[in-house]
Amino acid sequence: MRRLEVAHGGIPAVRGIDLEVRAGEIVCLIGANGAGKSTTLNAIAGLLPCAGGEIHYAGARIDTLPPHRRVAAGIALVPEGRGIFGRLTVEENLRLGAWTRGTEATLAEDRERICCLLPQLASRRGQLAGTLSGGEQQMLAVGRALLSRPRLLLLDEPSMGLAPRVVEDIFTLIGKIARDGVALLLVEQNARLALELADRGYVMEGGRIVLAGAGGDLPRDPRVRSAYLGER
Ligand code: ATP
Repeated sequence: MRRLEVAHGGIPAVRGIDLEVRAGEIVCLIGANGAGKSTTLNAIAGLLPCAGGEIHYAGARIDTLPPHRRVAAGIALVPEGRGIFGRLTVEENLRLGAWTRGTEATLAEDRERICCLLPQLASRRGQLAGTLSGGEQQMLAVGRALLSRPRLLLLDEPSMGLAPRVVEDIFTLIGKIARDGVALLLVEQNARLALELADRGYVMEGGRIVLAGAGGDLPRDPRVRSAYLGER
């Protein structure tokens, strides 16, 4: 994206950012609360309009497309708070992820593949999603997004509210998805883990990108160390 600007009710939240995610890359976006990270992801997914700048994806400009056309083009968002339908079953939630694909014959095959990737869910397909643990709901949200066959997966705070061991499982899953060739843009409060996993990272402050670099380099930057890694 180039010079992206997004506002909430006329108040700027993202103030002209340039950001790139290449195929198969894990890119993380870190920054304090209110920096504009979620706003950026929501604008890429088409849930918020751009007030300025351009978003390009797979060689085409997409910032005027409605959200469902972006999903069909290969962009999926796992929103902050997961967006699981608690009164639907695991299976029904997964099916919703595939709605842009109509009645494609490969759907059942994909559901099997995703259940292999997420063995925690395989035996619970008839269970109401609201009765799953937080970690299982996060896995389900990722599985549902994968059913749209994304080439770019946007993940908003996947570790939020989860126990450290479960966070590890989520990050392992993210690594596996990237190895399958899906590009990932990850918004995370857990900067240490996110930078360990990411190929590249961006730091956002006040709606602007203030720092960018390789995942391995950013944790060495004194500003990142003091502001986001709790070091002096
Ligand atoms: P967080 O980790 O708290 O989600 P963030 O970096 O994702 O932080 P955003 O949620 O993108 O930040 O918020 C950026 C700015 O936009 C903040 O000033 C926030 O108060 C404002 N904002 C976010 N959502 C809305 C909304 N729906 N209406 C009005 N202002 C909003």
